[in-house]
Amino acid sequence: MNVFVTGGAGYIGSVGVEELLNAGHQVTVFDNLTEGHRSAVDERAVFVEGCLGNADQIREALQASGAVAVMHFAANALVGESMQQPEKYFRNNVANGLNLLEAARLAGVRKFVFSSTCATYGPPEIVPITEAEAQKPINPYGESKLMFERMLRWYHEIHGLEYVALRYFNAAGASERFGEHHRIETHLIPNVLAVALGQRDHCEIYGTDYPTPDGTCIRDYIHIIDLAQAHIRALEPGRVGCFNLGNGAGYSVREVIDACVRRSGKAIPSVEKPRRPGDPPRLVADARKARTELGWEPRFPDLDAIVGSAWAWHQRHPEGYPD
Ligand code: UDP
Repeated sequence: MNVFVTGGAGYIGSVGVEELLNAGHQVTVFDNLTEGHRSAVDERAVFVEGCLGNADQIREALQASGAVAVMHFAANALVGESMQQPEKYFRNNVANGLNLLEAARLAGVRKFVFSSTCATYGPPEIVPITEAEAQKPINPYGESKLMFERMLRWYHEIHGLEYVALRYFNAAGASERFGEHHRIETHLIPNVLAVALGQRDHCEIYGTDYPTPDGTCIRDYIHIIDLAQAHIRALEPGRVGCFNLGNGAGYSVREVIDACVRRSGKAIPSVEKPRRPGDPPRLVADARKARTELGWEPRFPDLDAIVGSAWAWHQRHPEGYPD
């Protein structure tokens, strides 16, 4: 299939593109490189440097690609930042996303696969979280992704666009070639591994008074290759709707640090800090719907395997990507 991928130079998008190409699909990457890196774009893909804020540019690029499907990875995705700059999230994730959606409609695209998030739920009533959980986000990041999900549903009902919204839990790990390099890193695993690499003298634990067994936040970490595989399954005609993607296992911040110590063999000192605004205490997926309806089966559910793949990539790329 001919697939147009926004955010294909970013962390999750780069592996999404790699897996699409490995599966024999044809790929055009559209990315403005503010968060992404040129060298994170698989050389087998066509690359267009462009901005979703420019409606004409996105329309022309999508039309020229001849794509029949869109995968929309491009977004701002930091909970903490969204609590300080909500406008950035509504602009980029909602308003600019609508430019892409319009371009897709005009180009006659049949399938739209969207990177959504468990942050659309807010603190859940029942854990593990199913897709039936009420969506009440507690940060603008989650709100912006929920707004886009709702636009997709109406585009489906009114324009017949098939959409699949994949609600990621915590994307983690690396492929052989592509890994996590944010210019400003806020995520737990790369920050902890930076200590193991000797780049920082300690990591920070945001909040130790949560109502969890060890007082730190619990998340469901999912390997990015497994995420990428779910996108490929979503491409199949007739697949429509929202799907959680996680392993169904929750790990606390302290357990993640312990896994990083085990896999790296290094001491990793940590410092306890106050809670980070916008963080729900416990987010764990019930991803049975993705398994039954998409036929998706995670291949790397083990936390140590996920952390190990990230550690291998960071050791090979201690400074991340060169650009
Ligand atoms: N976290 C932490 N120290 C860090 C980065 C993150 O304690 O240096 C915590 C954060 O508060 C959250 C969890 O680790 O509870 C996962 O955070 P991350 O930013 O990796 O992903 P998020 O869940 O926000 O998408």
